[in-house]
Amino acid sequence: MILKVRNLEKRYGKLQALKGISFQVEEGTIFSFLGPNGAGKTTTVEILEGLRYKTLGEIYYFGRKVEKIGPEIKERIGVCLQKTELFKELTVIETLKLFRGFYRKGLDPKDVLEIVGLQEKEKSRVKNLSGGQYQRLVLGLSFINDPELIFLDEPTTGLDPQSRRHIWDIILTFKKQGKTVFLTTHYMEEAERLADVVCIIDNGEIIVSGKPEELIKQSGLKVIVEVPKNAKSINLGEIVEDKVIIETENVNSTIQEVMNLGIENFVVRHPTLEDVFLKLTGKGLRD
Ligand code: ATP
Repeated sequence: MILKVRNLEKRYGKLQALKGISFQVEEGTIFSFLGPNGAGKTTTVEILEGLRYKTLGEIYYFGRKVEKIGPEIKERIGVCLQKTELFKELTVIETLKLFRGFYRKGLDPKDVLEIVGLQEKEKSRVKNLSGGQYQRLVLGLSFINDPELIFLDEPTTGLDPQSRRHIWDIILTFKKQGKTVFLTTHYMEEAERLADVVCIIDNGEIIVSGKPEELIKQSGLKVIVEVPKNAKSINLGEIVEDKVIIETENVNSTIQEVMNLGIENFVVRHPTLEDVFLKLTGKGLRD
């Protein structure tokens, strides 16, 4: 076990942002915190990265209890913050070399360039990168010290689907190399696609955790019928954004009911982690 957290609490004045959460991260896995804005994801990872102070609780790294996240831990972890400001006038390779210089050991910046697919941008200035390229550079910086555990805080927020998939591929190569990844996200597909273990977090608490497919199974959700939100459909199920989500065990009778109301463009699908979240909290992940 590479990381273990017991009863972690964080207060910001009167606000209790973390209400005593516990979890552990196994070596070589992708571990994910899935939750909406304000759930406490960034607070948790930034405490673990040594960037914020905990209020209460215990943290164990590499099998040992730690009070302060000092340099010896920081050499062994990698960090990709939610927002990273880089020097706009430096080139991509200069940026990688600069960050490599912060650590005693690490990877060759050229190898990192290749892993994140930016060879052609080696000599481009940071200010001229696209959003997706910039984020891949930021990701590259997070493992320049060849860490055992890499924290990625919402690494694909705001990216287009193609850039997002590119980043997912890079995350999966970390796993193939035996690295451990701690990923926070509010994208259900991201957690479902990548994570070995997902903790669903809301309001400073872990509501449920486990393998994505197990969480879906345990939820008891059978089939989901999704219809557009309008005056006819509004009372059929839970409203999420512009849709009404109907959970059913008898798909035939639900479809009949929907069609009787004159609703035609419905979708029948398997439940997802988003539906699990909805069932447990009564709200959508992106409310
Ligand atoms: P997001 O996806 O929006 O980043 P999150 O799950 O990472 O959300 P946090 O940023 O950890 O959530 O915030 C948890 C709660 O703590 C929120 O209610 C937030 O407003 C509050 N909070 C976070 N940082 C501070 C701070 N420095 N001072 C006061 N309150 C804070």
